[in-house]
Amino acid sequence: MNLFRKIKQLFSWQQPPTRSAGMAMQAANPKMAQKILGMLEKTQEEELTCDEVFALLDQFAEMTARGENVSELMPLVELHLEICGDCREEYESLMNVIQHPA
Ligand SMILES: [Zn+2]
Repeated sequence: MNLFRKIKQLFSWQQPPTRSAGMAMQAANPKMAQKILGMLEKTQEEELTCDEVFALLDQFAEMTARGENVSELMPLVELHLEICGDCREEYESLMNVIQHPA
């Protein structure tokens, strides 16, 4: 018996039924998949655009600097910063200005 061939068969048998990526992920790592799926659901439900986040970013950064609970007050902005590198960069440079005024 050829083990390599057997493994290959096993994989080719598993591949064709291309089910939803979600199911495949869930099988691989349930916790991670749930986290990602939850994140996707959130973004789909209550997504802010980059423009909207940019408009709120000044306020958000100032509130963060004052130590206010932004996760509760502006959860959507915080969520967007988690998933959007562009806005996070903008936010970080804003924070930098606020914390180190010229
Ligand atoms: Zn953005």
